[in-house]
Amino acid sequence: MGKEIKHSLCFWCKPRCRLRVEVEDNRLVRIQGSPIKACPRKYCPDLERFYHPDRLTYPLKRIGDKGQNRWQRITWDEALNEIASKLADLKGRHGAETLAVSRGTSRTHEEFTMRFLNLFGSPNQCGQAQICHGNSAVVATALFGWWPYWMNTEKLANTKCVMLIGRNPPHTHQTIWEGILKAKENGTKLIVIDPRRCESAEEADLWLQVRPGTDAALLLGMIDVIIREGLYDREFVTKWCHGFDELAERARQYPLRKVSEITWVPEEQIRAAARMFATETPSCAMEGMGVAHQPNSYSPIAARHILSAIVGNVDVPGGEELMGPAPFVTELEMEMAGALSAEQRAKVLGKQFRLYTSPGYELIQSNVERVWGKRCDMFGYNHIATAPSVYKAIATSDPYPVRALITVASNPMVTIPDTKLVYKALKSLDLYVVTDYFMTPSAALADYVLPSASWLERPHLWNYHNTTPVLRAGEAALPPSIPGKYDRRTDFDFWRGLGMRLGQAEHWPWESLEETYDYRLKPMGMTFQDLVEKGKWAPETYEYRKYEKTGFGTPTGKIELWSTVMETLGYDPLPSYKEPPESPTRTPELSDQYPLILITGGRFHPFFHSEHRQVETLRKYYPWATMQIHPDTAAEVGVADDDWVWIETQHGRVMQKVQVFEGVDRRVVHAQHGWWYPEMPAEEPWLHGVWISNINVCTSGDESTCDEALGSWPLRTFQCRVYKVQSFGQDGKTVPPIPG
Ligand code: SF4
Repeated sequence: MGKEIKHSLCFWCKPRCRLRVEVEDNRLVRIQGSPIKACPRKYCPDLERFYHPDRLTYPLKRIGDKGQNRWQRITWDEALNEIASKLADLKGRHGAETLAVSRGTSRTHEEFTMRFLNLFGSPNQCGQAQICHGNSAVVATALFGWWPYWMNTEKLANTKCVMLIGRNPPHTHQTIWEGILKAKENGTKLIVIDPRRCESAEEADLWLQVRPGTDAALLLGMIDVIIREGLYDREFVTKWCHGFDELAERARQYPLRKVSEITWVPEEQIRAAARMFATETPSCAMEGMGVAHQPNSYSPIAARHILSAIVGNVDVPGGEELMGPAPFVTELEMEMAGALSAEQRAKVLGKQFRLYTSPGYELIQSNVERVWGKRCDMFGYNHIATAPSVYKAIATSDPYPVRALITVASNPMVTIPDTKLVYKALKSLDLYVVTDYFMTPSAALADYVLPSASWLERPHLWNYHNTTPVLRAGEAALPPSIPGKYDRRTDFDFWRGLGMRLGQAEHWPWESLEETYDYRLKPMGMTFQDLVEKGKWAPETYEYRKYEKTGFGTPTGKIELWSTVMETLGYDPLPSYKEPPESPTRTPELSDQYPLILITGGRFHPFFHSEHRQVETLRKYYPWATMQIHPDTAAEVGVADDDWVWIETQHGRVMQKVQVFEGVDRRVVHAQHGWWYPEMPAEEPWLHGVWISNINVCTSGDESTCDEALGSWPLRTFQCRVYKVQSFGQDGKTVPPIPG
């Protein structure tokens, strides 16, 4: 076969870089260095992960009790036959909604997960959408009638001011960060709103060190400054915005003195940020998970879009660009949403979060379709269940029995709040199937564990669910299956395999992923192979201010500062500030015992959420989970760098190692998320050390604390205390011992 060069899309983290892969006789030889400087790959060649001895190689079926880590190797046909037959049986007994699927953060072929589920009849697909960009997609589309292209780094060349809110792209989106740095060289201003002096804050013209969970108050204060000082775009607002007077009245309730008290940000800084954002135009804002991970996430996301609207930054070059539908068949269209009946759709778990489920979805999309002719592919936003509601339903059968779960590229024991509840839920299932690359704490509790093809073993067509106009293609560099060595499958093969066995054959006409991509690209007169050779596709010209011809895709045809969608759904149509469920002001009695604010969920190199902990070269950077604490607070509790500390909330406690850090407020500590220790035993009670440092042991998924419209759950605003770990012991009450 000899040496070959392939071009594949890397799925290690968000930029999805197209890399040059050298292979020889079906063996990976090397991957050319990343095109971007900030890539964590520079720490580690992928060979180490791809050929890691712990990678899953063949389908496994549990033979011992759950959690005993006793498995039997079976074939794919046996696995799919048995799983399909169990699903059919459970559907017959409890209804199709008894199956839930959880997936990771945009890791693989989500359109096929949804296609299978829609045809099966279950509305219960859940994952991270409500604490990820799904929230932004929903809110932006409700207010603007389309989701601005936030992935489009090309636009940054025209942007005069970027405002990052709870977002640290050096660790989350390296290509965006490189675009921002380049723009900065040309004079673009950078405002960063973040409780930590993260890398973005280091480069900022203005860094607002906000109290966690108070961004809505801060942004409303900025709106008030802009309106009071007449810095808004009067003509645009008059002609194209709905509800300006009501907005002005609401913003008046957030004078700077009050906002400063709430947010801990000095008045002068808030005023300076408002002026900079309103006068250095076109400006654009980019919110991140620091906002999505809040119990009141609707309001800061709405307020950030409103800020852009009132200064006239919508659908202008360098501002909030609304590009409209893609010229190819989108992932949303592949999902076959119409196959799910209204009756089944109405059973979605978490339906009380009405903006993110059926009523909101239909209201938003029907107006989008009226104006744009197509629905908006909002990051897989299509009857998404709320994860805490799903795990509660599994554990308690409330509101109905959920007896089967399939997790795809997802590790809920680490990534979902309230690990104790998730553990109870997973143990109770009649059928639990995991597809993944490695055995994980979640997989250790499964009935079937199936080996997934990695990004090197699958082709991909990618444009971030239509959040950038650029479309990219990458080919499989290696076969997923080599007889006698391993037999992995893509998720497309998995879902198709199940669908074929469950009466869906007519809806799976394609035999390979490449065939599905040919189908999707056909309207562009292109094949997948054409695009692989070309590398990427982007429109030659962009049209701006399209609303002047069509209006906006909202019920009023205008940007809705006052959201009629929210009003129709029975919510406050304007953003507002609410104290987090746990806070020094709202729950002072809790603060006596737990005086610090815990923030978590922020990404950190070189890991991606709960992934990559097996890779030794990467683990050298963080052998153990690490938390950040201000030097004064560290001195108060008597700890120093590298000490182990307990982080305790009213929900649980875990231990992490100390990093003393001046860039965090004295009243706040930051804990890393996603931690488990693959080198520790898989069987209980260890479960790969999932109880040791996994911060979700300390969080809560209580539905009453989630955002009332979106269902996002809090990860940033728990009251906690921190104290030194005095001894490690296997007393059965705390955690297993930490080896070494
Ligand atoms: S690890 Fe991330 S930044 Fe690096 S090549 Fe892969 S996708 Fe790009």
